Amino acid sequence: MEPIDSLGRPLRDLRISVTDRCNFRCTYCMPKEVFGRDYAFLPRDQVLSFEEIERAARVFVAAGVEKLRITGGEPLVRRDLPRLIALLAALRTTDGRPLDLTLTTNGAALRGLARPLAEAGLGRVTVSLDSLDDDIFGAMNGIDFPVSRVLDGIAAALEEGLTPLKVNMVVRRGINEASIVPMARWARDIGVTLRFIEYMDVGHSNGWRLDEVVPAQELIDTITAAWPAEPMEARYRGEVAGRWRYADGAGEFGIISSVTVPFCRDCTRARLSADGKLYTCLFATEGRDLREVLRDGSTDDELRAFVAETWGARDDRYSELRTLSTRDDRPDLPRIEMFAMGG
Ligand code: SAM
Ligand code: SF4
Ligand code: SF4
Repeated sequence: MEPIDSLGRPLRDLRISVTDRCNFRCTYCMPKEVFGRDYAFLPRDQVLSFEEIERAARVFVAAGVEKLRITGGEPLVRRDLPRLIALLAALRTTDGRPLDLTLTTNGAALRGLARPLAEAGLGRVTVSLDSLDDDIFGAMNGIDFPVSRVLDGIAAALEEGLTPLKVNMVVRRGINEASIVPMARWARDIGVTLRFIEYMDVGHSNGWRLDEVVPAQELIDTITAAWPAEPMEARYRGEVAGRWRYADGAGEFGIISSVTVPFCRDCTRARLSADGKLYTCLFATEGRDLREVLRDGSTDDELRAFVAETWGARDDRYSELRTLSTRDDRPDLPRIEMFAMGG
C-alpha cells in the first residue's frame, strides 16, 4: 500500500544527500566565514553507507517513489559514487519501470566522473551555475572557482548523454541579476534548460533577506522581454519548476519560485540527509532517525512501516503558510541548513 500524507499527497520523489561536505563555499549555502577549516562535518561512521542508502531507497520505491535525486553537499566528493549509482539503477518502480535517477552537482568534478556515472546507470544531471562571469561566479562560489571548468563539466555530461541536462541558477538581487539574460542566451544556444531559483531562506547561515529575492514574475518579465515565451502545463503533479516555452522553438526555461509562489499543495518529496534523517519538508525543523532503524536490526517490513507512518503523519506546507503571513515576518523556527538537507 502506498502511503498518502494527511493533505492527500502521495510519496513520489526522494532526494538523497550522500555527504554534507563540499568543495565550494557558496555564499548563500555554506558561507566560508561559518564553514571554515575547523567546521565539524559529520564523522564517517555517522554517514549512511551505500548499502544502507540502497536498502532505504528500495523501501521508498516500494512505497511509490519513482524519482531519486542524489545531492549533498557536493555529491561528487563522495568517494566511489558510481558504485552507489549502479546499486540504485538496478531498482524498479512498483509497476516495473526504471526509476528517474538523477543528480545535482556544482559540476567541478564532472569532467572526470561523467562517464563512470553514465556507465553506472545515471540518467541525467542538474548542474548549478550562477553566472558566466568569473568575477561574479567566483564571489558566489566562495573559492574563485572558474566558470570554464563548470562549462567543461557540462560539456562532458552532454557528451555522455546525461540528458536532458538542467542548469540551476540561484538569483540574488544586486549580486547576479546582470547574469540572467546572458545565462538564458547561453542555455538556449547549447540546448539545455535553465532554471532560475529564487534565493531561499533555508538554514541560518546565509543571512537571508526578502529584498534579496528577485521574484519569479520579475524573472519571467526579464526573459520574455528578450525572447517571447509562454507558460507550459506541469508534466506531473509535484513538478517544482514553472515551465516556459520559448516562442521561437529554442526550448524552455524554468522558475523555481518557492518564496513568492509556493507549491506545497503538490509537494510529493521526501529528503534523506547524509546521516540518515528523514525530512518531509525542506523547511522542516526536525527529521526522523531512519539510520537507527537501518542499524538496529529492524526488518524491511519494519522499515517500510516507519516510512509509511512518517509520510502518513505529514502535514508540512511551510512556504504556503509563510506566504499567508505578512511577507517580511517569516516564521522564526529552528531550521536545518541546505547543505545538510541537500536542497
Ligand atoms: N552541491 C550541489 C549543487 O550545488 O548543485 C548539490 C547541493 S546544493 C545544496 C542543491 C541546490 O540548492 C543548488 O542548485 C544550489 O544552488 C541550491 N541552493 C543552495 N542554497 C540555496 C538558497 N539559499 N536558495 C536557493 N537555492 C539554494
Ligand atoms: Fe556546495 Fe552546492 Fe552548497 Fe554551493 S550550493 S556550497 S556547491 S552544496
Ligand atoms: Fe514541499 Fe515544504 Fe517546500 Fe512546501 S515548503 S513545497 S511542503 S518542501
